[in-house]
Amino acid sequence: MPTSNCLICGAELEYDNTPRKMACAICGKEYETTAACKSGHFICDSCHMEKGIALIKAFCADTRSRNPIAIMQQIMAKPEIYMHGPEHHVLVGAALLSAYKNSGGKIDLEYALSEMIRRGQQVPGGACGFWGCCGAGVSAGIFISIITEATPLHKEEWGMANQMTARALQAIGNLGGPRCCKRDSFVSVWEAVQFVQEQFAVQMEMPESVVCGFSAFNEQCKKEDCPFYPAV
Ligand SMILES: [Zn+2]
Ligand SMILES: [Zn+2]
Repeated sequence: MPTSNCLICGAELEYDNTPRKMACAICGKEYETTAACKSGHFICDSCHMEKGIALIKAFCADTRSRNPIAIMQQIMAKPEIYMHGPEHHVLVGAALLSAYKNSGGKIDLEYALSEMIRRGQQVPGGACGFWGCCGAGVSAGIFISIITEATPLHKEEWGMANQMTARALQAIGNLGGPRCCKRDSFVSVWEAVQFVQEQFAVQMEMPESVVCGFSAFNEQCKKEDCPFYPAV
């Protein structure tokens, strides 16, 4: 079951504005962190993501689906993916790369997925609230950067990658917090599918509507204020 609480003891997480130095409860390495559970456990981003990333890589390399929302939902349902966490910064772009390739997009999927993992892992947990830059939205921008082979020196490709992130963040910001990695991932993919159709004439598949199955696992769920909350 996806959990939004501490992986060690199940207690709720708390966020501070000011970072403090703590040792990861899994690998023991010291990091500056703003998040720890109420009993004082801190788990570093790479320990939090490790199993999830392996699953994302294997699933996205293998699926024949053209529907990035369906790909994400299948991956999100596995226990390796927690309710919230920076693995979503890889998941959004990886699901898009896979669906894009399966919809006729010309990419080397194996290389693209490895780049997605390398870049997405660099976007830390909590960037939404602390940077004003949700990692799920950034993941959509990384996806466009990878398929256009953008670099900081390109013109159109550089522009499109930044436009993609902007569109995703606009939609994410319009809905307001508190953060939900599921909601922000669905929004980012929704925007990316439209952007790709407009810019690259590649049509990925989308469901009629996106219904979230994770509300019960999210203590901060916005419920009726979330467009993906299931209607009664
Ligand atoms: Zn704990
Ligand atoms: Zn660690």
